[in-house]
Amino acid sequence: MTFEPTDTVASVPPSGIRKFFELAEEYDDIISLGVGEPDFAPPWAARDAAIASLERGQTSYTANRGMRELRDRIAADTERRYGLDYDPDEEILVTSGASEAVDLAFRAFLDEDDSVAIAQPCYVSYVPSARFAGADVVDVPTRAADEFKLTREVLESSGAADAEALVMCYPNNPTGATMTREELRPVAEFAREHDLLVFSDEIYAELSYEHDHASIATLPGMRERTIVFNGFSKAYAMTGLRLGYALAPPEATAAMNRIHQYTMLSAPTTAQYAAVEALDSCGDEVREMRAQYDRRRNFVLSRFEEMGVDCFPAAGAFYAFPECPWDDSDAFAEALLEEQRVAVVPGDVFGAGGEGHLRVSYATSLGDLKEAMARIESFIQ
Ligand code: PMP
Repeated sequence: MTFEPTDTVASVPPSGIRKFFELAEEYDDIISLGVGEPDFAPPWAARDAAIASLERGQTSYTANRGMRELRDRIAADTERRYGLDYDPDEEILVTSGASEAVDLAFRAFLDEDDSVAIAQPCYVSYVPSARFAGADVVDVPTRAADEFKLTREVLESSGAADAEALVMCYPNNPTGATMTREELRPVAEFAREHDLLVFSDEIYAELSYEHDHASIATLPGMRERTIVFNGFSKAYAMTGLRLGYALAPPEATAAMNRIHQYTMLSAPTTAQYAAVEALDSCGDEVREMRAQYDRRRNFVLSRFEEMGVDCFPAAGAFYAFPECPWDDSDAFAEALLEEQRVAVVPGDVFGAGGEGHLRVSYATSLGDLKEAMARIESFIQ
């Protein structure tokens, strides 16, 4: 008897990002621009609420869909920000991170051998999650020339029209690209014309620096075909508390909840108490963190410009996505790590369209960023 993974599991390689972290762990004087998580701690009020709930012994399971108080606040927050009205009883599902919501959507709506179009470069979990669901992936490579925005042209040329669903993420990990409401219009039209479901990962919605975040669900005819993913990991710096949610029509959240109620039961209770407080009282802290990311973004972009490294003006999330000065971005990242002790992630890890680029996270202090950029500069020279 041996533990032989299924063909599906065996076919999915380990995360390319993890591989890089393991390499980085070999050195102790490293500055990491490799991580995709905030360097801040969650706002104190949210932490206090979590601690208080533990002190009161509030550690039972919650409703499968999440605590009613939390769903009410998510509904109010979504309405206030985007004018989107979701019913807390039927249209909101609280999950263990946005990651769980993504996985549930793939499993709930993709049959074996259905195809799913995935706009890339993208967060590393979408393609493996699609494969675990048995679906075929249609690569939709966005282009540096389009500032990594999703266009009708790339949707058409990639064969996305025949897919069941389109997966997209703006503000984007790894490129930092954002899309305005006007730019989303042709994407929405394409989805309607070809009757695609849309899985829209909007976990970086709070971190849009040049314009207000626009959700594709706000465009005509889109709310009924879209699942929006969001969560508390990025805006509230709550990554380890593992809390996210999906917003979708009743039949969609019901199907996702069918899996969730058996596989997860409910999202972490302590985190749900923290999230209630985060939505109630932590707006100032979110604005302050955003202001700091924005300062760092401007610094990083201006330093790449000084170095003569091409970098499109990333407008969201906490990533810059410069062109790699070498042809082989993997070799560049490894050499930069070995010679200068700076960790960045080669762009090909994020799928089609990412090759030839580097993901540089600025979720780290301005002091470290200054030192890291100086090291990158001397490495390139
Ligand atoms: N979506 C994107 C685009 C992300 O970058 C991440 C985290 N790196 C996630 C989802 C996962 O978020 P969570 O912690 O809520 O699972």
